[in-house]
Amino acid sequence: MNIKTVVDGMYGENSYIVFDEKGNCALIDPAAADVIRTVSDAGLRPVCILLTHGHFDHISEVDACAKSFDVPVYIHGDDAELLRDAFKNASAPLLGDYTLVSTTPCSVFDGAKITVGDLVFDVLHTPGHTQGCVCYFCENAVFTGDTLFANGYGRTDLYGGDYGKLVDSIHSLLPRLSGKTIYPGHGVSRKF
Ligand SMILES: [Zn+2]
Repeated sequence: MNIKTVVDGMYGENSYIVFDEKGNCALIDPAAADVIRTVSDAGLRPVCILLTHGHFDHISEVDACAKSFDVPVYIHGDDAELLRDAFKNASAPLLGDYTLVSTTPCSVFDGAKITVGDLVFDVLHTPGHTQGCVCYFCENAVFTGDTLFANGYGRTDLYGGDYGKLVDSIHSLLPRLSGKTIYPGHGVSRKF
């Protein structure tokens, strides 16, 4: 498994390009304008887009990537409404603009497995930052979105946020991280 990280935006969000030895890749939270060029320059072949949650700062290149590469978009069903609502995905209150996704998504759920070439991504539902947050496990990497950062966790004061649920989610997540490296939605990765 190989990982390219593209950082962009005033919120410093991470977009991850995760690929196997044959160049099959998943685009996780594509939000940086450079994602499409990075994929093309590397000669990679996107298979799908995986979203950790529906906040505006993780979805801004979803439509462009879905259209360019003709690939499905996966998000937990509880966060699908955020793609179509600028207030629920926080772009309206925080940015004063409307970041929306028009591509119809497919739902992922706790325990789902998504195959990308030789890679398998296991889905863990981790509500709290939003209702539909998920983490994607692949080999020794865990893509945690805004559920868990290298030194902290996501805010719970936006639509769907629930501090008690986030604490429960982190308690279920931490025992599964031994020996793995988390790749969060913002900031640096961290090995556990
Ligand atoms: Zn978020």
